[in-house]
Amino acid sequence: MGVSFDKIDGATWLKFDIQPATNPTPEKERAARLVDPGFGRVFTDHMAVVRYDQAKGWHGARVESRANFPLDPALAVLHYAQEIFEGLKAYKRDDSGVNLFRPDANARRFRSSAERMAMAPLPEPVFIEAVEQLVRIDRAWIPGGEGSLYLRPFMIASEVFLGVKPSAEYIFAVIASPVGSYFKGGPAPVSIWVSENYTRAAIGGTGAVKCGGNYAASLRAQAEAIDHGCDQVVFLDAVERRYIEELGGMNVFFVFDDGSLSTPPLGTILPGITRDSIIALAKDSGTRVREEAYTIEQWRTDAASGRLKEAFACGTAAVISPIGKVCSASGDFLISGGAAGPVAMGMRKKLVDIQYGRAADPHNWIKKVL
Ligand SMILES: *Cc1c(COP(=O)(O)O)cnc(C)c1O
Repeated sequence: MGVSFDKIDGATWLKFDIQPATNPTPEKERAARLVDPGFGRVFTDHMAVVRYDQAKGWHGARVESRANFPLDPALAVLHYAQEIFEGLKAYKRDDSGVNLFRPDANARRFRSSAERMAMAPLPEPVFIEAVEQLVRIDRAWIPGGEGSLYLRPFMIASEVFLGVKPSAEYIFAVIASPVGSYFKGGPAPVSIWVSENYTRAAIGGTGAVKCGGNYAASLRAQAEAIDHGCDQVVFLDAVERRYIEELGGMNVFFVFDDGSLSTPPLGTILPGITRDSIIALAKDSGTRVREEAYTIEQWRTDAASGRLKEAFACGTAAVISPIGKVCSASGDFLISGGAAGPVAMGMRKKLVDIQYGRAADPHNWIKKVL
């Protein structure tokens, strides 16, 4: 049973119609908002939008003033949650140019997310072009220093119809939000709560898809983590309820006393681009990396014996967060004495230096936009 969308490939030569905002934020106000933007509350002046319908395929590519979408109450996404998204960042280099980090990987993942959710797959060049055009027009919004411009491409089912079937119409858009350094004064170790009541993903489900629904389903578990005084939740597998999967929105790595790393295998977890980059950089420096199942009991045992040296979470927003403490209904345990470990911090610096163009880029991950 295939879901087919016509006129996909014709869109690879889509030209964006660029309509600069007639009332952009005055420079003084923009500067004030860039002082301490936090995460995800300040937005730039523009957005990129491309539409899909069955007659025209992908069409109407525009960069225009950021504005509300008119939402019919029967819009398919509001009822059946056909929605996917991405997250990537633009970084300002010392020479004032601008880097994107692996946008091709986000474009590829977005396309496979669309396929799993029976949505019209967006051609990868259109995804990348939309992101680049938005970064160019809103370049004044990219914070300097350790800040960056967080880009949020997303797609919603926009057919007005209550029937349960793949929508025949979609809106793809990209918005941008300046973010400060995620951690003031270096990343503080996070405490994580092991979720025993809730799971995130099952085999055959949507765990590997970046869809809003996964987040909706994780919020109750995250709230439980907060109730127990923890920063984040970590999920176990849905079958045996013992294998570590990932945090609500970050992948996880373990560092052992023989210098090796391990991380849960792909399948029901989100295939993080940060995860993939860490594996590549570790291998470059001769570090052994295993993509291997690891249980919560083993984690506790290895932390106690000293075999486990560090653990850290990773994702685009925070890059790397050392894990200092693991809490669960059956008791807590510390990792690296609750401090940030040298492997996590070293890997973080390596990645960030590549992203900001301060270090060599052996894998050609950087795409210079400006
Ligand atoms: C986005 C995301 C990640 C991290 O992926 P990156 O590509 O490294 O940003 C990890 N887990 C989940 C559930 C995510 O949604």
